[in-house]
Amino acid sequence: MRSPRTLQEMRRLLSPAVRGLQNYVAEAIPCSPTFYAAIAAGLNSVPDEYHDFIHHRGYRVRLGSLLTDTHPPLQGRRPRGYPPGATYAEAPGALLPHPELLVLVAEVVDERQPGGQLRRRPVRNVAGVCREELGHAVDYALDLGHGPASHTDPQFLAAYQAAVAALTDPVVQAYLAYQLQGGHAGREELFAQMFAALFGGGTLGPAYDQAIHQAFPTCLAVLPTLITPP
Ligand SMILES: [Zn+2]
Repeated sequence: MRSPRTLQEMRRLLSPAVRGLQNYVAEAIPCSPTFYAAIAAGLNSVPDEYHDFIHHRGYRVRLGSLLTDTHPPLQGRRPRGYPPGATYAEAPGALLPHPELLVLVAEVVDERQPGGQLRRRPVRNVAGVCREELGHAVDYALDLGHGPASHTDPQFLAAYQAAVAALTDPVVQAYLAYQLQGGHAGREELFAQMFAALFGGGTLGPAYDQAIHQAFPTCLAVLPTLITPP
């Protein structure tokens, strides 16, 4: 089948339930057929009930070129876990919780070269990025007033803390640094990456998914019960 040329054509590839969610998927800037096809694959890989759940909580999926063009308030801001000087133009996706309630997926990123200059390139693994950001949205949508599931679920927290304490190999620590960030960040990233892996794979590919499953086996075991929409 040929790739969708417009957002409207892309929407026809979505499941009827997701297509029926009002104003759920929109674009700030027209994108390429390759990107639309990957977005459709990413959205379709996540069961309808999650789309319905986060849509009901107010989350909307927004597509565009750079994240900073799709959502200009992000210009000049640094995404969490990125080095000093980085901006959202370098991020392939983002979940913006209150007040925006946006799931953003970029078609391109400005990639920092060894000399420091930026070079634009297409986002790799768009479907994985899509799944990860939807995972963040599910985490936040599960907040019943006390915080996202990854901040508050006692079983997930206990499993996370035990796994972090057991992770003493500095090579593994460096590899999984994004999931080991302090505060809520590491736990949120683990939740989202595991959600993505459950439905077809995360942003960084199967080897990375395998590594986080090995490092956080009990979190993986707890996740399916945790992500059941209420
Ligand atoms: Zn993330």
